[in-house]
Amino acid sequence: MSVLEKISPNEMISLEDKHGAHNYHPLPVVLAKGKGVYVWDVDGKKYYDFLSAYSAVNQGHCHPKIIGAMIAQAQTLTLTSRAFFNDKLGIYEEFITNYFGFDKVLPMNTGAEAVETAIKICRKWAYEVKGIPENEAQIIVCDGNFHGRTTTIISFSNDESARKNFGPYTAGFVKIPYDNIGALEEVLKTNKNIAGFLVEPIQGEAGVYTPATDYMMQVKNLCNSHNVLFIADEIQTGIARTGSLLSVCGDCTCQNACERQETYATPDILILGKAISGGVYPVSAVLANNAIMNVIKPGQHGSTFGGNPIAASVAIAALEVVNEEHLAQNARRLGKIFREKIGEFIKTSSIATLVRGKGLLNAIVINDEEDSDTAWNICMSLRDNGLLAKPTHGNIIRFAPPLVINEKELLDCITIIIRTLKQFEK
Ligand SMILES: *Cc1c(COP(=O)(O)O)cnc(C)c1O
Repeated sequence: MSVLEKISPNEMISLEDKHGAHNYHPLPVVLAKGKGVYVWDVDGKKYYDFLSAYSAVNQGHCHPKIIGAMIAQAQTLTLTSRAFFNDKLGIYEEFITNYFGFDKVLPMNTGAEAVETAIKICRKWAYEVKGIPENEAQIIVCDGNFHGRTTTIISFSNDESARKNFGPYTAGFVKIPYDNIGALEEVLKTNKNIAGFLVEPIQGEAGVYTPATDYMMQVKNLCNSHNVLFIADEIQTGIARTGSLLSVCGDCTCQNACERQETYATPDILILGKAISGGVYPVSAVLANNAIMNVIKPGQHGSTFGGNPIAASVAIAALEVVNEEHLAQNARRLGKIFREKIGEFIKTSSIATLVRGKGLLNAIVINDEEDSDTAWNICMSLRDNGLLAKPTHGNIIRFAPPLVINEKELLDCITIIIRTLKQFEK
């Protein structure tokens, strides 16, 4: 008998409970298959996926082009390490730097690693280019940030469960309120040892907080004028999710990170992950121009898997799909419909108080205490009604379908969401 012999969903959940660390609290649904905007559980029940693996599966589940690229490369060459050259990395590096408009890329695997990489580049630049005294460099971050789970990154989180009892914490971070340009200006004016400002253009994990429309542009200008690196963490907001290739592209809908100065709040360091591989393989990237990236010399940073041939092949395919299928345009158009229709419903609703977001990264705020389980219960009912979503912070539910969703499917989903919310009206 094989260990993969068919067992019941409840038994599968028990196995995870018994043998896996309890570092997540999953919604009780056991998925076995995915295709496009749909996932199926082990009993064959079909759901719309409105989480998209935290916006990693923007191109849809098991996209044939991306899977094809992965299979072909997996059968040819998987990993060489960076001790040798491989015949895919250079091609990928040229492709991704042209795609996003930067001189250079440093390839990593997970989002947190890419954030760590950006922090290291920023500090090294501060000492070797800007001339900040050794060990004095500070990086500004925002209240409510989410940048990953390493010891350094959680050091500047204000989520107690992410932080508590994981100290001692890494020093060198200054926290300011999000979407508050005055607070940023104040620190930049008074603190001479600021090396960079690390920020999410929309705070996803915190509950899809969208800042003022000109916030990012003001951030860029302030950072430039103070010789401080503007570091954009677009791991969740990038790759067409918010209706443009990058969230910092603003209202520009062209299919690359162009140089349109009036809309594009060009970061000095751009951090990408998640959908850069369409969710089929861990791929992350840090992009910057030569004046910054060249501070990194051989032996000073690296990763065994970073830039491996499978990652390179998969990422090229995944980024091509974004252009070929006009995912940014689709996210922009359908996102407007989503907020319009849900907004109309909310006018008459006592259970939902607000819909906010950009493109197809949206959230509905539920009318209850932060620590109530209403949002969780709504997600359980959504599941029963064929749609999977998850609360982010307490009473906020994030809605982020794969960007390959079409209008008919979206309208169907809006019907499910409104019907479900109505079951909870007070
Ligand atoms: C998911 C995420 C990360 C961390 O990525 P991992 O691949 O989970 O390490 C960092 N920043 C943002 C904004 C994210 O959404």
